[in-house]
Amino acid sequence: MNIIMMGAQGTGKGTLCGELMKRLDLPQVSTGDIFRKNISEKTELGILADSYISKGNLVPDEVTINMVEERLKEPDAANGVMLDGFPRNLAQAEKLDEILAKKGEKVDYVINLTLPMEEIMSRILNRRICSNSECKEIYNLASKPTKVPGVCDKCGSPVVQRQDDSDKEAVEKRLNTYFTQTAPLIDYYEKQGVVYSVDVNRAPTEIADEVYNHIKE
Ligand code: AMP
Repeated sequence: MNIIMMGAQGTGKGTLCGELMKRLDLPQVSTGDIFRKNISEKTELGILADSYISKGNLVPDEVTINMVEERLKEPDAANGVMLDGFPRNLAQAEKLDEILAKKGEKVDYVINLTLPMEEIMSRILNRRICSNSECKEIYNLASKPTKVPGVCDKCGSPVVQRQDDSDKEAVEKRLNTYFTQTAPLIDYYEKQGVVYSVDVNRAPTEIADEVYNHIKE
């Protein structure tokens, strides 16, 4: 089963994937996480990706699509994945359909996470993440602070602000890209009859239960 998490920055795609992983045996494939891991390891891909991400731009399609295609060949993706941050435009969505079709699969669900605009901005500015790429626990200074300031509750590593969340200009550019290039994909997937929209202004466990019940049905 292949699930796409769709929603603006800060709507909790990563958090929902984490909750659903407790209920479904599917790995999360987050393109943002893969890029961040490569950036911290200073790989060739990381250096290239950073030159786009730090300015709030999308990484070029051919780079991102190849990376996802390779990731979907890994053994843990054999029964499907939860995609977080991909696809982000029509070219990526069409290519994803092709990649999945080659495996005899398709997009089964698109979970569309909705939240009022003023809430989106506050969530992005308050977002903090565990710097340990094996952990990546997500916090929020207002709604989900760490027990000890700046220290991950789960693994004890430093909790930091994402570099691209700290630059207001880059945040505005990313949101603009989301609403002009990514949000229109909802129409693309509506035509496939796979969209399920959820209001995310409530507890992540409650959202995960609702999405899980929808999938089970
Ligand atoms: P995210 O963690 O999903 O917000 O992604 C962080 C950044 O990585 C984005 O702002 C983009 O610059 C880049 N990125 C992530 N996914 C994609 C994608 N599917 N296509 C292009 N760039 C991406």
